[in-house]
Amino acid sequence: MRFDIITIFPNFFKSFLNEALIARAQKKKLITIRSHNLRDWTDDNHKTVDGKPYGGGAGMVLMAEPIMKAVKNIKRKSKAKKIKTVVFSPKGKKFNQAMARKFSKLDQIIMICGRYEGIDERVAKHIADEEISIGDYVLFGGEVPAMVIMEAITRLLPGAIGKQESLKDESFNEAGIMGQKQLSKLIEYPHYTRPAIVKINGKARGVPKVLLSGNHKKIEEWRKKHAGQKH
Ligand code: SAM
Repeated sequence: MRFDIITIFPNFFKSFLNEALIARAQKKKLITIRSHNLRDWTDDNHKTVDGKPYGGGAGMVLMAEPIMKAVKNIKRKSKAKKIKTVVFSPKGKKFNQAMARKFSKLDQIIMICGRYEGIDERVAKHIADEEISIGDYVLFGGEVPAMVIMEAITRLLPGAIGKQESLKDESFNEAGIMGQKQLSKLIEYPHYTRPAIVKINGKARGVPKVLLSGNHKKIEEWRKKHAGQKH
């Protein structure tokens, strides 16, 4: 899987690329991540990527032409068969685990990160295949959404996480949690670890007794009961 990010802040991704399981997935050649500076596809000396909105109003809008050139250039160099271009926007389709699963079957994803007031609408209409939101709130830019999507997809790729079985009972698993398949039961049960008692604000907070019992049948029953309880 190859991720190409089009951004005016390519350095944003430096530590993200070099840490933890994303770094390991690259080493294992499960993923390749490239961030591209949108300014490299401008024609003027100032490397202009934005303009004032037609019709007036506050802020600046990222221009369609440099984005179009960037996408074309990345696609021209690509050998991928299954490739998708996505643009980030709060008004886009809400990203979820089902979408992550669908995207994990692709060979390459080109991601367009907006900034300022947003992106010329012609990008969503005529250049990108999908417009995606990561939630009903407004961020400074599309760089964090790009990281969210890369993490969600990468951990679904075989070999990306230590134990593949971790994915089995994980929240939003389409096969269900602990064999329970109703939509309301797609949330994993709570986890606890050592020590068995933690003092929090002066009060001793323990662990549900059953989890310390060693009785696997009872533990499974408890987990089943507590799966699907979203806050
Ligand atoms: N003026 C826009 C609005 O009111 O919806 C917000 C623009 S936002 C400040 C700048 C860029 O950040 C957007 O073009 C988009 O690429 C990205 N962005 C912000 N929030 C996002 C979200 N919830 N999901 C996906 N992208 C987001």
